[in-house]
This record gives sequence, structure tokens and C-alpha cells, in this order.
Amino acid sequence: MDLAEYKGVYVIAEQFEGKLRNVSFELLGQGRKLADGIGDEVGAVLIGYNVKPLAQELIAHGAHKVYVYDDEKLANYNTTAYSKVLCDFFHEVKPNVFLVGATNIGRDLGPRVANSLKTGLTADCTGLSVDEDGKTIVWTRPALGGNIMAEIICPDNRPQMGTVRPNVFKKPEADPSATGEVIEMEAKLSDADFMTKFVELIKMGGEGVKIEEADVIVAGGRGMNGAEPFVGGGILKELADVLGGAVGASRAAVDAGWIDALHQVGQTGKTVGPKLYIACAISGAIQHLAGMTGSDCIIAINKDEDAPIFKVCDYGIVGDAFEVVPKLTAAIKAA
Ligand code: FAD
Repeated sequence: MDLAEYKGVYVIAEQFEGKLRNVSFELLGQGRKLADGIGDEVGAVLIGYNVKPLAQELIAHGAHKVYVYDDEKLANYNTTAYSKVLCDFFHEVKPNVFLVGATNIGRDLGPRVANSLKTGLTADCTGLSVDEDGKTIVWTRPALGGNIMAEIICPDNRPQMGTVRPNVFKKPEADPSATGEVIEMEAKLSDADFMTKFVELIKMGGEGVKIEEADVIVAGGRGMNGAEPFVGGGILKELADVLGGAVGASRAAVDAGWIDALHQVGQTGKTVGPKLYIACAISGAIQHLAGMTGSDCIIAINKDEDAPIFKVCDYGIVGDAFEVVPKLTAAIKAA
């Protein structure tokens, strides 16, 4: 493989129902940083149906080029068909780097594409940089239960590829005057490329605000002692509602069956980056912190003044969450 033939840092732009997901912009911000580091350009690959109008938004957020596969057959995500499109893109354009969001779709698509292209993939990265050689990407991710950070490189294969956790990196500011190239591509697909058939989309987690997109998260831990505080009429849900936010949870609360795993924050849950994170009766284990320390402001409520969560919070309240949370809700309602 002649490595010099491979150029460009490319992000897979993920969209759902005609709206680009935040992670696509976060990847572009990181892609731009890496591209500057290796003296290259950054581009996006956009796949779907009726998605071409989204290309300008990607350009405004830093893409020099957007390759668009706009085809009715690609209206719904399909593992084998989307993989085929990305492999074709790789053979035609020869990108140096592929960044994929560590979303449900990205975690499905990334390894399959990497395997087809016989390259490596670093999963669930939380840090990206360029090695001293000026061309190798250094992928950083938590390892050994979150106790160490591993730095992984894939210097001899192309593309250098990884999935990147949503909400770890800030979305870059949009520049509506930015210009770039939109390149329309043909999706070369036959029936054999669709090994599964889309039947129906069933939305999980109700209509409420999702934690990965929420500006405010009120999260509860083992100290909440049951499911009631997390659901309608419960003290966590009520506080989240008055703040227009979402309810999150530690793994202990999820494992106890008090709330669905879609709400779990942390290393094996979701990484969140809200403006305000209120941790109620959560001790602050390293695996929980891995998912929420990117929040702009953290308030911790815990009855143990030595709880580790107090080391990372901006404001700490030593007290019983069952007393403090309703008082907070009442004060906000009265304000
Ligand atoms: P605890 O650690 O039991 O803490 C409960 C806290 O509540 C205590 O600090 C206590 O003082 C306080 N409290 C009790 N009652 C009250 C009250 N009435 N008012 C105020 N405070 C009160 N954890 C995650 O959260 N997310 C993950 O993604 C995750 N991934 C993991 C991955 C691996 C590989 C491993 C090994 C572990 C992972 N964990 C994860 C588990 C993690 O190590 C902790 O066990 C977990 O976060 C503890 O949850 P907790 O803080 O709710 O419970």
C-alpha cells in the first residue's frame, strides 16, 4: 500500500429524519484539527435520501468537501448497503482518515467497514491528536475499566479509522459564509447489498428530551432508593421538567431496574455535555465521571461530604436529596 496516495480526513455525517446529528459537527471540529495537523483537508460523507440540502450546513461547520450519496434506497439506515457505499467511497476517493460517531449506527457501521477494508478501528475514542511524525493519528480511549487511558495508532494501514464518543468535543461555531465543494456520488447498489429489510421504525424512550441532546440533566443514583423519583411525578423528573431537561442515571440505578439503560451516563452509558448536570445521590465513581465531566456546570447533592463527586462539581450541597431536590424545584417554580 502506497500511503502517500491516501489523502483527507473524512467524517461520516450522521443524519436522522433529515436533521444532522450534533456528533457530525463535533467530528468535523476534530477532523479540522487533525487535518490542520497533517497539512490536509477535511471532508464529510453524507448518505441518505433527500439529504443534499444538508451539505451546506456541513460546509458551514468546517467541511472543505462534502460527498453526497442521495438515493431513495438509502432512505433508512441499512448496515450492509451503507457499508458498501462507504467501501466504494474509500476505493474511489482514497481517504487517509475516517471518523465515525460512536452512536448506535456508527458502532454498527464502523467495525464492518474497517473489516471490509482490512484496516484497524479504535472504538469509543475520547481524544484525538497527531503523532510527532506529523502523519499518524493518535486515538485515545479509556481502557481497563476506565482506570487508564490508552493511546492507539494504526500507522501502516489506510484509512486510519475510529469511532468517537458524542458530546466529548464541543461543536464548532458555524460560519454561514464558508464555501466548499459538494460532490454528488452514485450509490452502486444491487438487491444483494441489502441483506436485511427495513420493516418499521419504533422510537424508544418516549417523546421527552434525550440526555445526549439535553441542555440540563438531572441524574439520580443508588441513593434514590427506587424507580419512583425517576418517573412522572417523581422528584427528579419534576426538577428536570421545570428546567426543560432530561433525567439521567448512574449504572447502579439502571442495574437496579429503576430506569431504562437509555438514560445511563458514564463509560458504558452515554457521554453527555449539558450546560447543567445535577447529580443526585451519585457517589462519583470514575466510570460515571467518564460520561459527565464535560458538562459546563455540575451541581452535586449527596449526604456524604466525602463523596468523590464533590471533587468534580462546581457547586456541592451536602444533604438528603429527598429534601434538597423538592426545595430546588419549588424555588425555581417560584422564581
Ligand atoms: P453508589 O456508589 O452506591 O453511591 C450512592 C451515593 O448516594 C453515595 O455517595 C451516598 O452517599 C449517596 N446517597 C445515599 N442516599 C442519599 C440521599 N438520600 N441523599 C443524598 N445522597 C445519598 N457507573 C455509571 O454510573 N455509569 C457507567 O457507565 C458505568 N460503567 C461501568 C463500567 C465498568 C467496566 C465498571 C467496572 C463499572 C461501571 N460503572 C458505571 C459502575 C461504577 O463503578 C459505580 O458502581 C456506579 O457509578 C455507582 O453508582 P452510584 O453512584 O449511583 O451508587
